Amino acid sequence: MSTETSEITPGQTEAFDAAGLLGDLRATFASGRTRDFAWRDAQLDALARMLVENEAAVIEALAADLGRPTLEAWVSEVRMIEKEIRTIQKHYRSWAGEKKYKTPAFFKPGRSAVRFDPLGVVLVIAPWNYPVQLLISPLAAVIAAGNTAVAKPSELSPATSALLTRLAAEYLDSDAIRFVEGGIDESTALLEQRWDHIMYTGNGMVGRIVAAAAAKHLTPVTLELGGQSPTIVDKDVNLTLAVDRIAGGKWVNAGQTCIAPNHVFIHEDVEQEFVERLKKTLVTRYGRDPRTSKDFGRIVNERHAARVAGLITAGGFDSVVAGGDSDVRSRYVAPTVLRGVRPDAAVMQEEIFGPVLPLITFRDLDEPIAAINAGEKPLALYVFSNSDETVERVLSETSSGGVSVNDVFMHMMSGEMPFGGVGESGYGAYHGQAGFETFSHAKAVYRRPGWFRDPALLKPPYKGWKLKVL
Ligand code: NAD
Repeated sequence: MSTETSEITPGQTEAFDAAGLLGDLRATFASGRTRDFAWRDAQLDALARMLVENEAAVIEALAADLGRPTLEAWVSEVRMIEKEIRTIQKHYRSWAGEKKYKTPAFFKPGRSAVRFDPLGVVLVIAPWNYPVQLLISPLAAVIAAGNTAVAKPSELSPATSALLTRLAAEYLDSDAIRFVEGGIDESTALLEQRWDHIMYTGNGMVGRIVAAAAAKHLTPVTLELGGQSPTIVDKDVNLTLAVDRIAGGKWVNAGQTCIAPNHVFIHEDVEQEFVERLKKTLVTRYGRDPRTSKDFGRIVNERHAARVAGLITAGGFDSVVAGGDSDVRSRYVAPTVLRGVRPDAAVMQEEIFGPVLPLITFRDLDEPIAAINAGEKPLALYVFSNSDETVERVLSETSSGGVSVNDVFMHMMSGEMPFGGVGESGYGAYHGQAGFETFSHAKAVYRRPGWFRDPALLKPPYKGWKLKVL
């Protein structure tokens, strides 16, 4: 482990030497050091320890940036990521092993296999909403695959970004893994360089900037974007479970979760009951005044708080059945439920990314399916139903990055299945083996034994125009 401190100072805004930084990392990669399994093990171990040994500081930084409740912060930004790193550590050697492929008769004697090469230097750009998880989880996959990396945390979560940058310099091999703080200037300078892979998590507008910059160098990109993740609640449903899970998924981190249920299509037969239970659940969880609850977070900044509050005041729905109030200066928006929301309401025109839950009633499953298919392909989709037929229809008639049935988040949280979007919600995937493969090149290798005597097929002068052996 290197004890060198990072040359990039926290919060730096002056143009820095991105080319020099990349050159240093390229030299480290060329030395072969990062391919060594012992190095990968040590760095993964350091990454996990970096979080666990500093969990109090991580929790404090998340409270400063997002008013994140302690348990929420620990579960989603420390424990879950530590577990994911340990799982990667356990399996990456087997993922890195050669995978045998069938060798057709004509190619024998010979063997066919795919081996996984590290790509080189990978740039990881992360957002502010889960500022530890969304930087460290991809970084673990980058390291496991044997690469060097630059990790760029978000300037909108400054306390967490500064902490991670300081800890990384202390815990990780800074000749191979560097954290760069800063905003658009730093991102732009980094994106001008030629990387071997870029992983970007954030909004689609910047996703396009990243993809365009990468295209200049033919650099492959993974884009983890957002959008509206819809939820369908059928009439044949366990309502207790549905309310419990939807409330959890919507109001954790004050709704600032890329896979939060954005809005709910609720069957008209259960709508009244659903609303009553949701209101009760809100009071049980956050009290009569959620502003005073230690368990309810804040919006990241005043600009976003004003945007989310504006979605409520713009109307386009029948009633506010819970919440509705806000205090932009303290970045507070109440957990809010809107009933009878019309398709042209402001709240339905963008990803809410805040604690506001629009309800849209339906009578026939065709309606939510048609509405979902008329929009952009979501990152996540949720369906609550006891009917296998309903679930199967939703699965087969819609397209989304991932789905949880009778739950929220779970398809992402296990850390084992590929996590990624489709269409406007992004492309490429990571987590578990998918992450390892994203940051590797699958190289096809055919091996012919050296003693093989060439039977002179396919060599001019040709005889006839067909070969019987093919
Ligand atoms: P953000 O503003 O923090 O931006 C993300 C990163 O992009 C930051 O590091 C920032 O410095 C950089 N950036 C910003 N503008 C840039 C520019 N012009 N050029 C280059 N780099 C630039 O985060 P955000 O975009 O507000 O994040 C919220 C969005 O991210 C939501 O849409 C959410 O759904 C999505 N998201 C997706 C996932 C996922 O896993 N798919 C996870 C979290 C968030």
